Amino acid sequence: MLDSTTLFADANRFIPGGVNSPVRAFRGVGGTPVFVERAEGPYLYGADGKAYIDYVGSWGPMVLGHADPDVLQAVHAAVDRGLSFGAPTVAETAMAKMVCALVPSVDRVRMVSSGTEATMSAIRLARGYTGRDKIVKFEGCYHGHSDSLLVKAGSGALTLGVPSSPGVPASLAEHTLTLPYNDAAVVREAFERHGHEIACIIVEPVAGNMNCVPPVPGFLETLRDVCDASGAVLIFDEVMTGFRVALGGAQALYGICPDLTTLGKVIGGGMPVGAFGGRLDIMEQLAPLGPVYQAGTLSGNPVAMAAGLKTLERVSRPKFFDELSEKTRHLAEGLRIRAEQAGVPLSVNWVGGMFGLFFTEQQRVSRFEQVMACDQERFRRFFHGMLEEGVYLAPSAFEAGFVSAAHDYDVLDRTLTAAERVFARL
Ligand code: PMP
Repeated sequence: MLDSTTLFADANRFIPGGVNSPVRAFRGVGGTPVFVERAEGPYLYGADGKAYIDYVGSWGPMVLGHADPDVLQAVHAAVDRGLSFGAPTVAETAMAKMVCALVPSVDRVRMVSSGTEATMSAIRLARGYTGRDKIVKFEGCYHGHSDSLLVKAGSGALTLGVPSSPGVPASLAEHTLTLPYNDAAVVREAFERHGHEIACIIVEPVAGNMNCVPPVPGFLETLRDVCDASGAVLIFDEVMTGFRVALGGAQALYGICPDLTTLGKVIGGGMPVGAFGGRLDIMEQLAPLGPVYQAGTLSGNPVAMAAGLKTLERVSRPKFFDELSEKTRHLAEGLRIRAEQAGVPLSVNWVGGMFGLFFTEQQRVSRFEQVMACDQERFRRFFHGMLEEGVYLAPSAFEAGFVSAAHDYDVLDRTLTAAERVFARL
C-alpha cells in the first residue's frame, strides 16, 4: 500500500508543486492531496486503499459518476479504431448535431480540447466580429487561464484592468473590465461609458468558481439588454454549467439566449474536451470560412467524442435533470438542517447538480464579497473532518461541489450522517 505523503513527495521532485493544476495541491486546506488509483460510480479509491464518496467529480465532468459502463464501452470501441486521425469523422458531426439540438443559442459549434481554449477562442471571435478590443468579465468568475482573462479589477470598478498573474502584459489587461457579479447597475454604468468599445461580456451564468453563486433575478437579463443596445456579444461560459444545471445549460434554465456559448467538462465525459458555439453569422467569421483564426491538432478527437456523445445521450433521457436536482436538493438541504441543529451557521446554494456550502451567518450568498467573508478556517476543519469520514469535497472554500447520477440516496444519507458527526465537532 502506498501512502499519499510518500507519493506527493516524489511528485514534488519532478512536477511544480507536485500537481498538474494548482487547486489539486490542497494549498487552500492544508495537508497532502489524496492520490487516486481508480474511481467507480460515486467513489474515488485512493492509492492508500481508502474509498471516498466523491463530490468533486473531476471538477464537474463526471455527471454520470465515474467509469460509467456505457461510456467506457463507447470509449473502448473508439480506441480500437485508432486514437487520432487529424481528418473529419462522423463522430464530430454527431457531437455537433447533438450540441446544436440541445443548447438553445448554438447554430454552429467548434470542438477544442479544454475550457481555456473554448473561452479564449470565443473572445477572439467576439473581438474579430465586432472589431472592438474591450471585454467585460466579473469578479469571482473564472474562464480559464488565457491572458485576457487572468485580469482583476483596477482600483475602481470602471478603471483599467490589471494582470492577476505575472506574465500577463498590462497592455493586454487594460482591455479587460472586471465588474462585480450580480450587480446590474454597475453593468449599465459601464456600458453607458464604454458600450461602443466593448466587444463582449463573458459570464458564468451560475458562478461556480467562487463556490456556487446563482444569478440574482434580472442580472442575466440586464447583460442581454446592454449587449443588444451596444452591439456587444454576450458569451455564456457554460464550461461548468453546460449539461450540469439543466439539459441545454443555464441558458435553458433561465431562458436567456447568449450570442456565444462555451462548453467543456460534461461534454467530454471525462476526456479533454471543450467547445464554443453560437449564432450563425458570428460563427461564420471563423477560419476556414472567415478571417478569425483558430485551430487544434487534437480537436474533435475520436476517443473524446465517443465519451462525450455517450454522456450527452444519457443526460438527454427524460427526467435525468429532475432526478439529479432532487438529489442535490436532498444533500444541500440535509446539510443545512444538520448544521443548524448543531448550531453551526451554514448557508447553502444549489442549482441542478451543483452546490455550494458557505460557513456564514448570511442567509443568502449572492456576491463575491460575501463569499470572501465566509469562515475559511471552519471550512478547513469541515473539509478535513469529512475527508477522515471518507467524503471527498473540493479542497477549497471557493469551489462548487457536484452530485452525479451515481450518487444514490443511500450514499447521500451516509454523507449527511458523516456531516452530522463533523458538525458536532466544529
Ligand atoms: N470556464 C469555467 C466556467 C470553468 O469552470 C473552467 C474550469 N474550471 C474553465 C473555463 C477552464 O476550463 P479548463 O480547466 O478545461 O481549461
